[in-house]
Amino acid sequence: MKKILIVEDNIALSTGLSFDLEREGYKVDTVCSSGQAREAVRETEFDLIVLDINLPDGSGFELCRWIKELKDIPLIFLTACDMEKDTIKGFELGADDYITKPFSVGIFRRRVAAVLKRCEKENIGNIYNDGYLMVDFDKLMVIRENKAFMLTSSEYRLMKIFVANSGKVLTRQILLQKLWDNDGNFVDEHALTVNVNRLRSKIQNKGHKYIKTVYGMGYMWVGEKCNVL
Ligand code: MN
Repeated sequence: MKKILIVEDNIALSTGLSFDLEREGYKVDTVCSSGQAREAVRETEFDLIVLDINLPDGSGFELCRWIKELKDIPLIFLTACDMEKDTIKGFELGADDYITKPFSVGIFRRRVAAVLKRCEKENIGNIYNDGYLMVDFDKLMVIRENKAFMLTSSEYRLMKIFVANSGKVLTRQILLQKLWDNDGNFVDEHALTVNVNRLRSKIQNKGHKYIKTVYGMGYMWVGEKCNVL
């Protein structure tokens, strides 16, 4: 069952939307502030987030940026801000759709379904394969030079973050934030270094480098990009 988070401080609106989506077969959680949304996103894996822009404790744009840095979750803005520049800003922040109030529930429902379908297609087969290195994210397995290596759960999470952010410098701080596990245990600086080195030993050899150290900053994935869930 697809899980949707609605972040909206207008309770009447979020109750109505939630009722409608649940009748369609989705599981829906609702929160009414940016703080509650952050907590929910850390604790639960959602398939889609519907996000209001004017929230009592901050801007939905800020929240969107925070969410997208942490996890790659499809996101729809739902807002009274119908200025073109706001819509553009929403898309620039990585939103998958932007719906302005007032809107019809029937159209909302179809746009939710469309975003979920589109994102599902992009995620067919959780596999990274560049011809040399093959990573099967469902099996937590790496294959290179006809040898198979198993990934630990931290290496697996690290690998997903790297391939989704190819060519970008990931600071140690960002990596630590993203690796913060669901039980609330922090991965510390030392554990990060150990995990990066262990992952390297499984995926790299002298002729094939994937994780570049950017001195004083962090790391960068120099292999191909891949959007795995
Ligand atoms: Mn609002």
